[in-house]
Amino acid sequence: MKKIVFLITLLSVGVTFTSTAFSKELVVYSARKEHLVKPVFDTYQKETGVKIRYITGKAPVLLQRLISEGSKTPADLLITVDAGNLWHAAKEGILLPVNSATLKANVPSHYRDKNGYWYGLSVRARTIAYNSDKVKPEDLKDYENLGDSKWKNRLILRTSKKVYNQSLVAMLIAENGKEKTSRIVKDWVGNLAAPPYSSDTKVLEAIAAGQGDVGIVNTYYYGRLIRKRPELPLKLFWPDQNGNGVHVNISGAGVIKSSDNSGEAIKFLEWLSGTEAQNLFADVNMEYPVNPKVNPNSEVAVWGKFKSSSISLEKAGELQAEAIKLMDIAGYK
Ligand code: FE
Repeated sequence: MKKIVFLITLLSVGVTFTSTAFSKELVVYSARKEHLVKPVFDTYQKETGVKIRYITGKAPVLLQRLISEGSKTPADLLITVDAGNLWHAAKEGILLPVNSATLKANVPSHYRDKNGYWYGLSVRARTIAYNSDKVKPEDLKDYENLGDSKWKNRLILRTSKKVYNQSLVAMLIAENGKEKTSRIVKDWVGNLAAPPYSSDTKVLEAIAAGQGDVGIVNTYYYGRLIRKRPELPLKLFWPDQNGNGVHVNISGAGVIKSSDNSGEAIKFLEWLSGTEAQNLFADVNMEYPVNPKVNPNSEVAVWGKFKSSSISLEKAGELQAEAIKLMDIAGYK
């Protein structure tokens, strides 16, 4: 708590919103890091003359700040990661429902809120990674199969405290129901080779080091690590290709309800979903464009095509509390 208060204070003193030479401007609160959003903001500014000012911070900190600032917030747009976080922002009543034909055409329905509170902008796949010296792809099947006894003491997971895993389990509940998902998660816990790690990168490093043989990670962490250390015996596997498909999540955005500049904010959001911005927005973090008309960049494309789950990501928010409870009961730390 102390840390959160400190961070909010830091954010508050770090940014002053003074007027500039630009006639139009937008204020963005971004849970995506500066180096991931700045190139996109700069391009928009250059093309349209609209000045984008922004702060970055952790998703829960920004959400808390928006709630406490209420209608006095300078923010016009919230950019954050994980549908669970976007769902919470909508639930808190800080987002404006946006009805845009452009956004509806560019963002598939399962990657956006049905009332238009938020729209996905990039897609991240949460898939299986394995040690290619010890595991053959034929040995792998789907998320459920990681609970099979053949993976005893071979599974590496990230902590259940991370929203990525909460959303993953929420989506498993949406697919399989509570009872079956509960069994799956208990079986995972029984197969763990080590206590859950604090990051996806640590999961990958543990698999590469042979502490365990398989795990679940977001693909861009794999991309980052392999770019630095291509010699590592790590590969990605696309699970459940004859079933529901790979679990995906999004980074996305919503317009702030009290924005007095919502028209400009919506225009910016529409631009973000278009061809040019989609590659910029996805490529900087080795993610997938949300717009199906746009191809992923070549570095990402080499991981291969896959079928992804088409269950609406709203479920990641709706079922998150259930998922957290289920993981707790299953002993998943
Ligand atoms: Fe991440």
